[in-house]
Amino acid sequence: MNHDQALPAGLRPETLAVRTAIERSQYGENSEALYLTTGFVQPDSATSAQRFASGEGYTYSRTSNPTVTSFERRLAALEGTEAAVATASGMAAILLLIMGLLKAGDHVVLSRSMFGSTINLFGKEFAKFGVQTTFCSQTDVDEWRAAVRPETRLLFAETPTNPLTEVCDIAALADIAHGAGALLAVDNAFATPILQRPTLLGADVVMHSGTKYLDGQGRVMAGALCGSEALIMGKLAPVLRTAGMVLSPFNAWVVLKGLETLGLRVKAQCENALTLARWLEAQPQVARVYYPGLPSHPQHELAMRQQNGLGGGVVAFQLAADTPEAARAKAFHVIDSCRLLSIATNLGDTKTIISHPASTSHGRLSEEQRQAAGITQGTIRVAVGLEHPADIQDDLSRGLASL
Ligand SMILES: *Cc1c(COP(=O)(O)O)cnc(C)c1O
Repeated sequence: MNHDQALPAGLRPETLAVRTAIERSQYGENSEALYLTTGFVQPDSATSAQRFASGEGYTYSRTSNPTVTSFERRLAALEGTEAAVATASGMAAILLLIMGLLKAGDHVVLSRSMFGSTINLFGKEFAKFGVQTTFCSQTDVDEWRAAVRPETRLLFAETPTNPLTEVCDIAALADIAHGAGALLAVDNAFATPILQRPTLLGADVVMHSGTKYLDGQGRVMAGALCGSEALIMGKLAPVLRTAGMVLSPFNAWVVLKGLETLGLRVKAQCENALTLARWLEAQPQVARVYYPGLPSHPQHELAMRQQNGLGGGVVAFQLAADTPEAARAKAFHVIDSCRLLSIATNLGDTKTIISHPASTSHGRLSEEQRQAAGITQGTIRVAVGLEHPADIQDDLSRGLASL
């Protein structure tokens, strides 16, 4: 039973985040039920046959599950799209995007600054199947325009990027894609629908790593693609049902509950991040701070316009040194002097996470590739959580002050 029909029309995102997409059982539970089941008992053979033929109703959890459906509907409501389909992780969402939209010989244009696994999945794994790629500058729109070919089917962007928070112009890239008869997909894991809703700026598909802000408490892996009913339910969901990288109902339930507090968390994390970024900029040991909310950020104006006036929850900064070895030693010292922040892989968690991209997320790149990406041995990333900002600063100043 779906109670959404009973909700008043025109509800605002804050309300939708807690009220929409509740599939209540006969018990009328107020909190979303967790349907942890593989199969669904059918009333009779005729109904079973009808459900298998039409895809309506529930039969088997690789095909659909009420808890997963609730997560999909709620995320679609927040992104302002007609539909969403959930996947086992963010990377599984990108895998689905590739499998559903591309074939051998097709060409994709992406940013060189995208998430490392995204670059590998397109540029390495799917190169084996004949998918062609061109990697462009994150910020130079002309480079994207020049990269388009007759076989271009997809432009894929991520904004802001990890870890240097470079911002690209979604509306400009959508124009280029549509002029070429291609689609624009946007990885919205960093920004979340609280900062930007890419389809309202012209994007055709929104990709999520639910692992990050959507769960927001560092508990489960999840992913999703959002877009039109025709694209999501017509083209992508059928591939997912066959290929099977579906989201588990348990993980869907966790992320579904995470969506209820997404707005509160993300706004508070943006506020903490801005406070931290301003403070870092004033520290003599810090050579450069990367944060879209600072006027010193090269795409500050675009970011403020595109991101609802918010800079996001991730701040990166650079420690200057004469040699890469010295820079690395300084970065390790600052990180290892923290007693509060977690040295971990993830972001969007309530707990602030500190990391050294050159030896972790970007560790497999050559020093030359890293330099080209602007990531040095002295670069530190802070994915800001919900602690008091003064405690985050105190933790970082311990290492900075003793450099
Ligand atoms: C984490 C992340 C991904 C991959 O998501 P997983 O859930 O880890 O598979 C993709 N893009 C961005 C921007 C991410 O931060």
